[in-house]
Amino acid sequence: MAEKESFSTNNFIKSIITEDLKNNKNNGRVHTRFPPEPNGYLHIGHAKSICLNFGLAEEFGGLTNLRFDDTNPEKEEEEYVRSIMDDVRWLGFDWEDRLFFASDYFDKLYDYAVQLIKKGLAYVCEQTPEEVREYRGTLKEPGRESPYRNRSIEENLDLFERMKNGEFPDGSMTLRAKIDMASPNINMRDPVTYRIKRAHHHRTGDKWCIYPMYDFTHCLSDMLEGITHSICTLEFEDHRPLYDWYLDVLETPCHPQQIEFARLNINYTVMSKRKLLQLVQEGYVDGWDDPRMPTISGLRRRGYTPASIRDFADRIGVTKAEGIVDIGLLEFCIREDLNKIAQRAMAVLNPLKVTIENYPEDIVDELDAQNNPEDPNAGSRKLLFSKVIYIEREDFMEDPPKKFFRLAPGREVRLRYAYFITCKEVIKNEQGEVIELICTYDPASRGGNSPDGRKVQGTIHWVSEKYGKQAEVRIYDHLFNTENPDVAPEGKTFLDNLNPNSLKIVNAYVEPMLIEVKPGEKFQFERLGYFCVDTKYSEIGKPVFNKTVGLKDTWSKIANKD
Ligand code: ATP
Ligand code: MG
Repeated sequence: MAEKESFSTNNFIKSIITEDLKNNKNNGRVHTRFPPEPNGYLHIGHAKSICLNFGLAEEFGGLTNLRFDDTNPEKEEEEYVRSIMDDVRWLGFDWEDRLFFASDYFDKLYDYAVQLIKKGLAYVCEQTPEEVREYRGTLKEPGRESPYRNRSIEENLDLFERMKNGEFPDGSMTLRAKIDMASPNINMRDPVTYRIKRAHHHRTGDKWCIYPMYDFTHCLSDMLEGITHSICTLEFEDHRPLYDWYLDVLETPCHPQQIEFARLNINYTVMSKRKLLQLVQEGYVDGWDDPRMPTISGLRRRGYTPASIRDFADRIGVTKAEGIVDIGLLEFCIREDLNKIAQRAMAVLNPLKVTIENYPEDIVDELDAQNNPEDPNAGSRKLLFSKVIYIEREDFMEDPPKKFFRLAPGREVRLRYAYFITCKEVIKNEQGEVIELICTYDPASRGGNSPDGRKVQGTIHWVSEKYGKQAEVRIYDHLFNTENPDVAPEGKTFLDNLNPNSLKIVNAYVEPMLIEVKPGEKFQFERLGYFCVDTKYSEIGKPVFNKTVGLKDTWSKIANKD
């Protein structure tokens, strides 16, 4: 991966780590982890966290673990585990032999819970969920202590073991940490540590009917793996006292430092796994990897490269302040990358027939076309010209305004790599729609070069009718038609913000080379944008193209405004 750039921008987490290294904290070790819950596919927000965790370790000579946070048996599936590993690898990161599952620690976690009880710091509570809620208090009012709070250590040990052995029904009891029902931080008001839930777990099967809660599991998993910096998103800031409490009271051999940063939000999309799952399950999109989805797999199918996503993660930086990033920045990053690497090609998405009346019927006319002007090693290819060609319907206007520099009656334009042509006649159907243009060409302009210094104002692309092929092209717009789809008026949901026109399928004419392509290959269709061969619907000799992004650089326009 020669292309991989170093994680260059400075941020507050790097400053913390630099300071820690200076003080020889953790004996100079840096060890991070990426801890996804396998309850959905990864999205671009996760990519931020992946690039951050792996990037920091890379920069400071440390290590990063991949750990599945699989404490919630019901929503987790093997398919998600596989897709998450694929996506992290595809992004260009390697956890080597450090693949872990929180469920691997269930035995140890159980022992830690027993230790809590023995220290008089946890109790088995039989309050109903409603009672727990009622006793919890509010932000303004302290909570009240559960009547089960002062059970003896022996009784708690006995009940907890019997919870584990399956003697009590689901939901009838919990193990709670005994902290402080009057704490101003609600997370510290005797949080639940274990619950009873008879559910099949994707790794431990039916061995357990009690499962540890996230806060308890997370800090201890970090500790067991020797994590030094446990980086998470801001919503866990209020959980940090609990993270620290468990590690402190259990007197663990090491104490990872939790550091929070702002999660990534992007406009015109939703980023919660719950909502993405709903889009998939209710058929609003064509699976997790639908090219309109903000998932890593969707972006990959759309034509994004790992380098472009890493570049994006680097550019957005890492802060404590929540904000919404413009989708244009992500598009800018992929455009930058594809401009360097994508082979150029000719395709016409909305064809208008052009007959060149003075062009001979039966000659073979091979023209040179550059494969990538940005890449001196990309070489060139031959394009076959013919008497009948297709041009883009938008490249002709019968009655053009002043600023229109393309084809019009009597007007001469350059066909890219081919000839100058002049429009002589416009043919219409009975409805008055233009269905064909009759043109002449100048044989002396071969290669698109002016024969006598005369200038044409426009250059347009074309595909030969005789040699060109047809291919399906899928053109995408934002999945949602509002900037913040999470916000919906009273009685509506984010689903009401779906853009009904986010997918348009067209039948295009393409140059013959575009038929012999492999899924995942990327092209720039000249003047139109970047396109990627779809991995799901393409067949041999019958490719389907996804439009990745247009050529227009709206981001630099936005950036230049101020
Ligand atoms: P969601 O809220 O979308 O369901 P999650 O936080 O529940 O996501 P996890 O699988 O628990 O998803 O996330 C794994 C890691 O990725 C966590 O450390 C989490 O903080 C981080 N992460 C999740 N979403 C984002 C985001 N939008 N921006 C940055 N990091 C994120
Ligand atoms: Mg989570």
